[in-house]
Amino acid sequence: MFFVRCPFCHKLVFRLFYEGHKRQHTKLRDDGQMTEHITVHPEGRYQGSLKGVPTAYRHDRCGGVTGMPEEIVRSYLVNPFLYSGGSFCCGCEDYRPYRELFWVETGECLDDYFQKLQDQYLREHGEPPPKTRV
Ligand SMILES: [Zn+2]
Ligand SMILES: [Zn+2]
Repeated sequence: MFFVRCPFCHKLVFRLFYEGHKRQHTKLRDDGQMTEHITVHPEGRYQGSLKGVPTAYRHDRCGGVTGMPEEIVRSYLVNPFLYSGGSFCCGCEDYRPYRELFWVETGECLDDYFQKLQDQYLREHGEPPPKTRV
């Protein structure tokens, strides 16, 4: 394979150029957040209604509330293993572990939430999805 499928923009990128290409996606913005996040290819994302799916989380330590972009929500709904361990907090301007973040809509800890989705995935598919190469 001379080409890799870029998990950020989903274009085929010549393998030798991929490191430089990836750097453009992952350089930090002024607010500390990565420019872009890896997502599931648009055609493979969750297509259903997002009714009842929480979209904003609170970080009690700083009081910040952060909204989760729709393409991220639709990606983790088909692959709850895609983003593991933490998420960006607008208040801290940094990544925080899931256990410190709570959904505004439901009050549920993101750690429990993603654990539940992962368990459900494993029950349905038997094994985790192949790891996305970044
Ligand atoms: Zn790309
Ligand atoms: Zn925070």
